[in-house]
Amino acid sequence: MRKKIVILGSTGSIGQQTLGVIKQYSNEFEVVGLSGWENTKLLQEQISFYKPKIVVVKNEVIAKRLKREINNLNEIKILWGINGLIEISILEEVDITVVAITGIASLVPTLEAVKRGKKVALASKEAMVVGGELLVREAKSKNAKIIPIDSEHSAILQCLKNEQKDCVEKIILTASGGALYNFTETALKNVTVEDALNHPTWKMGKKVTIDSATLMNKGLEVIEAKWFFNIPANKIEIVIHPQSYVHSMIQFIDGTILAQISEHDMKIPIQYALFYPNRVSNNFSRLELTKIGQLTFKEPYFNKFPCIKLAYQALEIGGTMPAVLNGANEIAVNAFLDNQIDFLAISQIIQDTMKEHKPKYNPNINDILDADYWARKRALSLCANTKSSNK
Ligand code: MG
Repeated sequence: MRKKIVILGSTGSIGQQTLGVIKQYSNEFEVVGLSGWENTKLLQEQISFYKPKIVVVKNEVIAKRLKREINNLNEIKILWGINGLIEISILEEVDITVVAITGIASLVPTLEAVKRGKKVALASKEAMVVGGELLVREAKSKNAKIIPIDSEHSAILQCLKNEQKDCVEKIILTASGGALYNFTETALKNVTVEDALNHPTWKMGKKVTIDSATLMNKGLEVIEAKWFFNIPANKIEIVIHPQSYVHSMIQFIDGTILAQISEHDMKIPIQYALFYPNRVSNNFSRLELTKIGQLTFKEPYFNKFPCIKLAYQALEIGGTMPAVLNGANEIAVNAFLDNQIDFLAISQIIQDTMKEHKPKYNPNINDILDADYWARKRALSLCANTKSSNK
């Protein structure tokens, strides 16, 4: 019996690579649902190749357009919006829901899939960052599995596989350092969008590439790690590793460090998540250690990149604070990408938004969504103020 799979965000970078893995294992998986939001051209190609039963797009207008474009072959059901995303995430027949849509939009579909006891392969870090406490609680009570696709967390999962949790001394998350790691503090004041998007090792979407440049990406991954592995923040350390071949490590109580090392290829953690707990073969390119020659490790500059400290702070405060960190970050990053604010204003806006928030503890889904909404509104007005004071 082939495993039935749904991919939220199939036209994005992770979604396309997930389909790439599935293509190599077409006798193991059957794609029953895809969501592609606006890119109907690519969605059409995916529909004609994988033949899903249900497809979700952004809105009714796009749904009608897609219907015309595919002549509604095979009578595919086309849904739209958040309700469509929820509907395909919880399809009765589905074994694995892959969540690879950006932003907070990933939270509710993930939560609904978890509530139905699905196996969720999670690439959208925001869901775990803002709703980690809730997702972990629900997963436990419904016996659902949430498997990370993020390369660092996949590495940790692999290193932990045959180990006892209480033998872990600390998690060592590796960070490439992003595009701006070697910029001086003065140079950081004049960073352009182009500079920040120039990531040294990974090719990714714009939002996560800017998050790498501010190091917020690593901050968000600290929060993710806490929830995925139930490890307190003070046992999660960040190390800069510019070559990005060591995807993360665990240090154990006897001083041993286990690392997961491989090419920069997201198909590796995607495949691991889809087949977890099994490991299967592939023909992806192999890492040649003698060609790399050396792997280096450095301490992160916490002062130059304050977003990391803000993320640790949000995790320590807990409750709805990580949702505020995440919401304010998304707004500030978009404003930077639109040339509305400077690079250094990103962390300032997040910090100012967090300062004004009164967190709610043991939040339910509405508390989290309210905090997110509040943070976005507040961050938007802070961005507007920053913009006018720049003029
Ligand atoms: Mg990562």
